[in-house]
Amino acid sequence: MEQADARIAYKTCPLCDGTDSIEECVADCSHHPLYRHELPKAQRWLRCRQCDHVYVDGYFSKEAQDLLFSGGHAYQTPGQEIENTRYISARMVEVVCELLPASTGRWLDIGFGNGSLMTTAAEFGFQVVGLDMRESNIKLMREYGFEAHAIEFEKYKPNELFDVISMADVLEHMPFPKVALRHAHELLREDGLLFLSMPNSDSFLWSFLSQKKINPYWGELEHYHNFGRRRLYSLLEECGFKPLRYGVSTRYRACMEVVAQQALDLEVDANDQS
Ligand SMILES: [Zn+2]
Repeated sequence: MEQADARIAYKTCPLCDGTDSIEECVADCSHHPLYRHELPKAQRWLRCRQCDHVYVDGYFSKEAQDLLFSGGHAYQTPGQEIENTRYISARMVEVVCELLPASTGRWLDIGFGNGSLMTTAAEFGFQVVGLDMRESNIKLMREYGFEAHAIEFEKYKPNELFDVISMADVLEHMPFPKVALRHAHELLREDGLLFLSMPNSDSFLWSFLSQKKINPYWGELEHYHNFGRRRLYSLLEECGFKPLRYGVSTRYRACMEVVAQQALDLEVDANDQS
């Protein structure tokens, strides 16, 4: 694979299909722990002039993605830092329980990584299912007695709906987040909850780190999007969700966590196939 073939260029803005974008910045990603010499050393960020979304100019091809995944972070392995991550996950589950009176039901965790959110939600009484693209993670979670599938979320068609879907630090990794959010809308029961976390580029902390040139996310090889709270909220509404709660995430730096509710009145735009 040539460096130039690693990324598939976005033809339009991945959120609004706008064709008018300007360069936001070019960052060096060659010091990222998952960087491999087959990949481009720089990643170029664009800002959509129609919806203000900031995204990388292309997403990785299957081959480049496989190369990235062959590295993998140790902390994304089930069982890693199990005691510390349980405290962090418990806070996330508690946020959901505050908004879900029954505090029980079916919970789907997308991109479960170290599995902590799954195992902790199960501890609180939820019936959990997890999806992850790393086969070794699936194998381990099954050995621990959990239902886990190695499948892309958009292709996952369960027989029963879910009460909660979590995408903790996942949406910014997906080439087309809108497709994923619409699929989540389909898989949630009426009034079901969507839990999201990701860095917040609207936060003062984000601007501060960028100004000091120490914002780690511009060189984050695995991210395709920099969401701010404002654009995330409007995107959620476009995909049939009502944002209910904003909070600061304790999981990663400069991150927000948002809980939104599945609302039945999904605005269907016949021209919008994204
Ligand atoms: Zn746009």
